[in-house]
Amino acid sequence: MRLVIVGNGMAGSRLASEVRRRDKDIEITVFGAETTRPYNRVLLSNVLAGTAGAEQVRLPVHAEHLTARLGVTVTAIDREKRVVHAGDGTREPYDVLVLATGSEPVVPPVPGAGRAVAFRTMDDCERILAAAATASGAVVIGGGLLGVEAARGLAGRGLPVTLVHLAGHLMDRQLDAEAGLVLGEALAGLGVAVRTEAKVTAIHAHGVELATGEVLPGELVVLACGVRPVTGLARDAGLPVGRGVIVDDRLRTGDPRIYAIGECAQHDGTVYGLVAPAWEQAAVVADLVTGADETARYRGSRLVTRLKARSVELASMGEAHLSEDPSGAVEVVRFSHRARGIYRKLVIRQDRLVGAILLGEAPTVGTLTQLYDRGGPLPSDPAGLLFPGLDVATPADSPVRMPDSARVCECNNVTKGRIRACWEAGARDTAAVVEATRATTGCGSCRAAVEGIVGWLCEQEEVGA
Ligand SMILES: Cc1cc2nc3c(=O)[nH]c(=O)nc-3n(C[C@H](O)[C@H](O)[C@H](O)COP(=O)(O)OP(=O)(O)OC[C@H]3O[C@@H](n4cnc5c(N)ncnc54)[C@H](O)[C@@H]3O)c2cc1C
Repeated sequence: MRLVIVGNGMAGSRLASEVRRRDKDIEITVFGAETTRPYNRVLLSNVLAGTAGAEQVRLPVHAEHLTARLGVTVTAIDREKRVVHAGDGTREPYDVLVLATGSEPVVPPVPGAGRAVAFRTMDDCERILAAAATASGAVVIGGGLLGVEAARGLAGRGLPVTLVHLAGHLMDRQLDAEAGLVLGEALAGLGVAVRTEAKVTAIHAHGVELATGEVLPGELVVLACGVRPVTGLARDAGLPVGRGVIVDDRLRTGDPRIYAIGECAQHDGTVYGLVAPAWEQAAVVADLVTGADETARYRGSRLVTRLKARSVELASMGEAHLSEDPSGAVEVVRFSHRARGIYRKLVIRQDRLVGAILLGEAPTVGTLTQLYDRGGPLPSDPAGLLFPGLDVATPADSPVRMPDSARVCECNNVTKGRIRACWEAGARDTAAVVEATRATTGCGSCRAAVEGIVGWLCEQEEVGA
């Protein structure tokens, strides 16, 4: 069986390792347009901020029976002959082909856009850092998750930064207007000037021009204006494409020998932009192509977004932007303390948590994530979920009271029960648990929780002994 993977990013490289875990012999060829070994793209924000080095974010590679064609782009798929054509003139036959081509940054159609650097790859990150070393200021265009992380990272390096956003508030896909405002104030306190409702009309060598004629100074201009799934190969091969390559619950495209996973895929109308769905999809395809589990299916993901920006704690999940519905169908419980940078909001429908925002200190983030994940009923007084002191019900934030079903690592879908099982099977420290479960290896925000559970299990054993 010859498996060919197009794209050596987070989905493609994970698929290769998932297949290798299940089958030692399948021949895998992975094409990667980038010249580097695969790396954890999520952690590029940490590289930009200086809290991680480039070598620390490399992903593990299982090299047996794996041919990695680094720096080689696949240019066409011949479905009839079952071969792919590569940019270096070679051809590679396949029995199963998986498209994991990810997304490309959107570049705004304004004069001078070529002067700006997008923020998507390790090369982009290195270019930004090189420019930051000599620039007297930076402008980041786009106030979504990526733009906020980039702006915070550059400000943390001592650069004056302006963050420009077209919409009325930051992270408008994950936050409501007030949360966006509180986030903007928190960033301002950290050296990021925020400009919302600002339309960029040109990029000059020394700054960014707005529709009002104002020029925001900065030799370094970073683009974080959103991404577009890379679907050209699939489209040219005659496969059905919407915003992404359309796949079914088996992640199969219109051709049963061709699958698509990660940010290039569109499942049930949704194109995901986070790593957890990409890794879940990789596991399903690995089950199917190796025959490890022919019943494996992907049914969609519930998303929790966490910001990785030093001194700004932010988690958002589900339909967080909703406001009260006059009919009473949607209830909102909210607490805002702008002076302390705190904003907490629960969105409730039919006694279930369907969305939440936690900005600033958030002692109950684990409980809320779990309630959202499971879609279980809420306690009678949901205010206790915002203020743990008011209510004793914060089970998922303490290793002791957290149920085994609580998902601790969102990116790798690892529950407390799985950590406990690993520990009982002999993994007696955090490193061994990480090795066995891969918890913490995505965005890394669950590290303290995993360490807490391992510490608690060790204490339990000592008490028992
Ligand atoms: C700075 C940053 C921070 C992020 N933070 C988070 C976060 O906190 N949490 C989170 O969940 N997600 C985050 N993301 C998003 C996350 O990185 C993506 O969801 C994830 O990388 C998607 O994986 P993918 O494999 O589909 O795409 P990618 O990782 O982009 O990989 C696709 C690869 O395919 C290659 N390719 C494309 N076409 C071809 C071709 N024809 N031939 C050969 N190779 C090809 C590309 O060069 C690329 O290397 C972040 C992204 C960035 C950029």
